[in-house]
Amino acid sequence: AAKRAGPGRMHHFDVELERRQSLQRSRLVRVRQAIEEEQLRLFVQPVIDLATGQLRFAEALVRWQHPQQGLLLPEAWLGWIEDQPEISLLGDWVLEQALRHCSAWMRAGPCVAVSVNMSAWELRDPGFAERIRAALALHPDLPASALRLEVLETAALEDLEQVAQNIARCRELGVSFALDDFGTGYSSLTYLRRLPISTIKIDRSFVARMLVDPADRAIVKAVVDLAHAFGRTCVAEGVETPEHLQALRAMGCELAQGFAIARPMPAEDLPDWNLPPSAGG
Ligand code: C2E
Ligand code: MG
Ligand code: MG
Ligand code: MG
Repeated sequence: AAKRAGPGRMHHFDVELERRQSLQRSRLVRVRQAIEEEQLRLFVQPVIDLATGQLRFAEALVRWQHPQQGLLLPEAWLGWIEDQPEISLLGDWVLEQALRHCSAWMRAGPCVAVSVNMSAWELRDPGFAERIRAALALHPDLPASALRLEVLETAALEDLEQVAQNIARCRELGVSFALDDFGTGYSSLTYLRRLPISTIKIDRSFVARMLVDPADRAIVKAVVDLAHAFGRTCVAEGVETPEHLQALRAMGCELAQGFAIARPMPAEDLPDWNLPPSAGG
């Protein structure tokens, strides 16, 4: 019976594999089309100084304005291209838009840096620093310090040597780095030692529970202290209430981002944004 089931099962796997491959191919085509047909939108979310309430930078968060399905968050589709060359196409688009908007904000008011998320794929590219340099060169009005790049620790995992080198080269240009979603990966102290990053972003899952769960509160406090021990700045993500802001201030966390301050908004709306009074403004 096993022998007879064998070939049949193989056949089933082939069909299943073929179905998945063609679904993946069609997804890549759809994302490429979305880029070409200008369906992507650049949203940004303010990051403020907890002590002064001042806007320090804005994180670029990509959205897909789908003609039928409406505004799609990255979680609905970014995974399709994460380990594919298409992620570089998306990365180029986001970087270009982020710098273009940043330069418009500068003309509208005080200097606000823009923070751009980088995929593991992009960070492993030996041409990474050159790509960043070329993108900045298109905006001679912008200092390199107006650009910040966010890196997931999982991105560094595969090729720490190359990633560390890429980051170091960009730092020489004047671009600074943040370690994103800290606490969700291995949170290896090796990364903190080896990667020349200036900022640690505490993952929002710990921040979300810090007022109700003493363990999460302890983690948040430990990450803030760890960042300072390494001479790095700390950003708390996912700050949803004034109570969170209060607790984070008391812990000495410098910067915060979250719905209590602002939800992600279209990049062109940033110059008109004001800190809500409930957030200490
Ligand atoms: P991330 O870099 O950790 O970005 C923060 C996410 O937390 C954003 O989700 C933001 O909307 C959400 N958020 C901010 N404040 C709050 C809050 O108070 N409560 C809650 N519940 N959520 C909050 P978003 O925009 O859906 O992006 C998800 C992830 O997609 C990002 O996580 C980032 O890893 C990735 N991503 C977004 N844009 C890009 C991009 O341009 N390139 C790349 N490679 N990845 C991107
Ligand atoms: Mg980020
Ligand atoms: Mg994050
Ligand atoms: Mg995240």
